[in-house]
Amino acid sequence: MRLSRLHAPTLKEVPKDAEVVSHQLLVRAGYIRKLAAGIYDFLPLAKRVVRKIETIIREEMDAAGAQEVFLPAVVPAEVWQESGRWFQYGPELLRFKDRKGGDFCLGPTHEEVIVDLVKRDVRSWRSLPLNLYQIQTKFRDEVRPRFGLMRGREFVMKDAYSFDVDDAATNRSYDAMYAAYERIFARCGLQFRAVEADTGSIGGSRSHEFQVLASSGEDAIVSCAQCSYAANVEQAELHLHHEPPPAVAEKAYERVHTPNRRTIAEVTDYLRRPARQFIKTLIVDADDRLFAVLVRGDHELNLIKVKKLLGAQRVDLAHEEQVRTATGAAVGFAGPVGLRGVVGILADNAVRGMTHAVAGANADDHHFVDVTEGRDFQVTRFGDLRLAVEGDPCPRCGGELKSFRGIEVGHVFFLGTKYSDAMKCTYLDESGVERPMVMGCYGIGVTRTMAAAIEQNHDADGIVWPLAIAPYRVIVLPLQMNVPDVVQAAEKLYADLQAAGVEVLLDDRDERAGVKFKDADLLGIPLRVAIGGRGLKDGVVELKPRRSSEVQQVPLADIARRVAEWTE
Ligand code: ATP
Ligand code: MG
Repeated sequence: MRLSRLHAPTLKEVPKDAEVVSHQLLVRAGYIRKLAAGIYDFLPLAKRVVRKIETIIREEMDAAGAQEVFLPAVVPAEVWQESGRWFQYGPELLRFKDRKGGDFCLGPTHEEVIVDLVKRDVRSWRSLPLNLYQIQTKFRDEVRPRFGLMRGREFVMKDAYSFDVDDAATNRSYDAMYAAYERIFARCGLQFRAVEADTGSIGGSRSHEFQVLASSGEDAIVSCAQCSYAANVEQAELHLHHEPPPAVAEKAYERVHTPNRRTIAEVTDYLRRPARQFIKTLIVDADDRLFAVLVRGDHELNLIKVKKLLGAQRVDLAHEEQVRTATGAAVGFAGPVGLRGVVGILADNAVRGMTHAVAGANADDHHFVDVTEGRDFQVTRFGDLRLAVEGDPCPRCGGELKSFRGIEVGHVFFLGTKYSDAMKCTYLDESGVERPMVMGCYGIGVTRTMAAAIEQNHDADGIVWPLAIAPYRVIVLPLQMNVPDVVQAAEKLYADLQAAGVEVLLDDRDERAGVKFKDADLLGIPLRVAIGGRGLKDGVVELKPRRSSEVQQVPLADIARRVAEWTE
């Protein structure tokens, strides 16, 4: 492709609404344009990258025994009503009516559609296992679409669904998908970790997220420095390795005035005590019952774990009025001592045995100091209720957990019979007994993977594509368009590389060398060949991988071969 013809309108300025690097670079380098919030046009370079990721996905899904289908994006309400999700799914589900008044939605995920398809035609155990996948546009009306392709409203997803006779067979399908995902992200040239993830309320299930490691990632993950354990911090279990001795209190607690100091940071500053000496008290609403949950001041509450401990359907942080009802005070002054307006007090294991602690006094502008657990307040139930942090012990081997940030690009999930029960997706087993099919579902955010690749691979000058998903593998820069030898050598190399099947861009624009170098870096093409008049006199051209700072002088006669070898 000639750059003079390529529709890749580059920009000098960083777009105002772009907060993350991938969004900035994709817009600046002319890969995407915004049509509406969270909805983007994919220009030619982006389309090529997406196609490469899709090709890798297709090859690995096919090799793992899955079959590609293509399902509608517009989905009739009936199937969503059948599963019950029409009534449960929030406003992320974009619902609308057709001209006859029928209810429809844009599919945010396709369990219903696939179950509806499979249950109509698959009747016998002989047809199982079955794994169907598609690569298709999804729509989720996200509250805050942001970060460009990372959290769009319209995005491309690969979604696969496995149907098996029982749990053991589903585990085999799951393992096959897990292995395929490892190959897919490795082939895309990405650094990633598969981490254990929350399974929600579905019993006996397994779930892993595939996280591309990047400091800008929205997800916090921990992984053991000694064994293979890795988990989302929401999921990471924190076992109690030894019970702390019961608290021995010296001083009685006292009430102190803390005017307008509500947050842990404000109160630690004001009272000059470290955060780990604080008891943070959060009021939560669990299925319409109010509980207090205590965590140490330097720890963060994990609502998912609270939900599990209580076996609740729904747990949210209480709103202002509920906090007032529970504590008699404004938000920021809740504490366990003398707390009467809650059903119970739950506490994280780290709160057990705390002495000389600081806690809210359940009165505006006041805290208690020198509070002792067990003496000054009673905990209804202790448990693992906080997010894991760096340095916590690994639940498998006791080693030290390290923390990372990641971008969730894929998710494998053991679904069980949730949808097959609700929608009566059954088969007849060998003895003619009707049983529900056991399902797994497996998603990859194709367009998010493209953005994640940039979050992980960029520098101050632009994108640094991994070779396998780069839109073109090499860019040829004739540095002086007014020197016929230079133009001729560049044209010949361009033709030779195309003939050899190498995906190549030729920067044939009448631009200064500096502009060409800058744009080649911005676009992120993995290999650059610069052809200048001075080098040509000595019979050499310059070869430079985008990722390295080293420029190699290569004889003109060898360049086509060298490039072909490098880009293989
Ligand atoms: P998240 O937690 O980031 O909202 P999710 O867990 O809701 O994602 P899944 O339902 O597991 O997402 O969807 C499968 C994959 O689709 C995700 O792993 C992610 O890569 C991708 N994905 C989900 N939501 C979006 C979005 N708004 N924009 C782009 N990709 C997305
Ligand atoms: Mg997910």
